[in-house]
Amino acid sequence: MADGGARRLEGAPIADEIRTAVAEDVASFTTANGRPPVLAVVIVGRDAPSTVYLERILKGCAKVGIEAAFVELEGEATEAAVVDTIRTLNADPAVDGVIVQMPLPPTIRLSAVIDAIDPAKDIDGIHPLNAGLLRLGYDGFLPATAHAAVEILRRSGIEIAGRDAVVIGRSAVVGMPAAFLLVREDATVTVCHSRTRDLAGHVRRADIVVVAAGRPGLVTGAMLKPGAVVVDVGINLVDGKIVGDVDYDSAVSVASAITPVPGGVGPLTNALLLTHLIRAAERQAEARPRHAAPSSAANTTASSRGDR
Ligand code: NAP
Repeated sequence: MADGGARRLEGAPIADEIRTAVAEDVASFTTANGRPPVLAVVIVGRDAPSTVYLERILKGCAKVGIEAAFVELEGEATEAAVVDTIRTLNADPAVDGVIVQMPLPPTIRLSAVIDAIDPAKDIDGIHPLNAGLLRLGYDGFLPATAHAAVEILRRSGIEIAGRDAVVIGRSAVVGMPAAFLLVREDATVTVCHSRTRDLAGHVRRADIVVVAAGRPGLVTGAMLKPGAVVVDVGINLVDGKIVGDVDYDSAVSVASAITPVPGGVGPLTNALLLTHLIRAAERQAEARPRHAAPSSAANTTASSRGDR
């Protein structure tokens, strides 16, 4: 699909493919275990943007037969209460994956929450163990957004091996894992951040540019090498509209391929999270003694079910 020259890398068709495969695995799991896989989403306080995100998770789970349990705590919940809730979910054999909705209230340390998640249920790859496994090239859980940023390239048939890639952003959940994944795919990777001198110079040398800075318009067409492939991970609300970090209109005539925002990395992120969940469920089921009957997530969590 050409769009002013660049091929538009749409996430939705790839996400559909992934969901179809996940739905089959979910059906097999449900038959074998007598219950569907269960995702617990811990929510501390609620704001409007995250509500939209949560609805999307719910819909994605429902489409493939995964049950989503929301575990809601008051905005004033203490760190100890949040950690206790996560530990209860860790101990519940009927909960297969746990994600914690970000951002957390400022009174709660992110590190305390991350450390509390059982790495076996950490389907968004935020626990240090999973981060370490990625760094060492082992098969842990990947942060879904970073996974999506690279998977959209792989599944769109974009060559990665041997190419020069620039990742803008070095966060633990997006930029760094995306960079490690690109190295794993044999790209030569430069990581840029807010202290990078001459960002434009780095971008201009790159065959692949992954932008995850949270700065609308940070990368323009004038900065790109002609024919570069651009993955825009950014999600920003500007004048009531969702836009990425790349100035799409100028980039589209210079790039050879580009992900739109919305509609690029985002849909794939949600679908990949489901693949992580079913993998977590299968692994834990395999590790469990054969006759252990799972308890019900609803008995142990203050959850509201995903079908509401
Ligand atoms: P973050 O933690 O705020 O990190 C932003 C990174 O960008 C930091 O490393 C920062 O550098 C760097 N940066 C900021 N301004 C820059 C500039 N002017 N030049 C170069 N680098 C700059 O954000 P995040 O959680 O990684 O998220 C990044 C973006 O991805 C956000 O827009 C977020 O909404 C989006 N996101 C998308 C999805 C999805 O599914 N598509 C999911 C999650 C997040 P320093 O380290 O020096 O501060």
